[in-house]
Amino acid sequence: MGYRRRDFLRDATVAAALLPRLARAQPKQPVKLELPAVIATWDYGVELCVAAQKSFAAGGDLLDALEKGVNVVEDDPAVHSVGYNGLPNEDGVVQLDASIMDGRGHRAGAVGAIERIKNPISVARKVMEKTTHVLIVGAGANAFAKKLGFKEQELLSKEVRAEWEASRKANKESFWRDDKHDTVCAIALDAKGNLATAVSTSGLPNKLSGRLGDSPIIGAGSYCDNDVGGAAATGIGELAIKNAASFAIVERMRAGLDPTRACQEILDRVVKKHPEVKTDPRAQLAFIAMAKSGVVGAAVLRPQKKLFRYALARGTSAAPALVEVKPLISA
Ligand code: ASP
Repeated sequence: MGYRRRDFLRDATVAAALLPRLARAQPKQPVKLELPAVIATWDYGVELCVAAQKSFAAGGDLLDALEKGVNVVEDDPAVHSVGYNGLPNEDGVVQLDASIMDGRGHRAGAVGAIERIKNPISVARKVMEKTTHVLIVGAGANAFAKKLGFKEQELLSKEVRAEWEASRKANKESFWRDDKHDTVCAIALDAKGNLATAVSTSGLPNKLSGRLGDSPIIGAGSYCDNDVGGAAATGIGELAIKNAASFAIVERMRAGLDPTRACQEILDRVVKKHPEVKTDPRAQLAFIAMAKSGVVGAAVLRPQKKLFRYALARGTSAAPALVEVKPLISA
């Protein structure tokens, strides 16, 4: 039997009914984002991205780009919460935390409460590359760095010491301004699709000696999985640790969420578990994330004087963009 007009009309009707569904079912053409890509926290993330771009352009490896980028921020005396000129603990000593994670081989290295070494990220990289360990802290971290030839120096500038001393005399809480501390966090994706994360900080000002924040804790302050993406945190480290925040964000991305949703969902979870953060204006937490596709996202708990922004570089020649993130709660 031939194909009759009645059959044609039936097929045409069925096709017309299916069309919108078919259109919806079409897999979205993935947008090809330019690589390498680097995302980094805060305004100083721009200088980090520029240094990383230069390193990539000169043929540098993913880890070289991240390390060089973080080093620039650690070396910058104008940045008071990372590396040289970082914020002192309650004994007036700068103790630094840092970690690095390489998606290739799922490797990680970290140092905690290291003193008198301005580039803890470089020591963390050595822990990853030269030992079978992940985290070395305190005097052990200093001894390890010394053995490798890292130079020791005073990290506290006269200016920050004076501020700290004055605050001790007055009210020690005054040194802990809500927007004073922060962490340089960076995630990079190279042209081959490999991911790495790096974070470095002096942690919370006036912290107890030996206190480790989230930054040296893999899964809390940073985490990456080469199949999925990377994430990193800045803010009150204890909140990030108690919620394994960076790991949780990457796992939400693995489940199919885009990086922004994944960051927001974990921030939501933190607020649910710790409702007191809603009314404590000092409680701050922010995340950045990058998916394997190069798509990025971020979330921040609350507005503060210093706006939470991240820098984003795509490719090696375009100037990084600075992107402001809308806070989850309004005060
Ligand atoms: N997360 C850091 C810490 O708790 C501090 C910060 O990023 O503000 O040590």
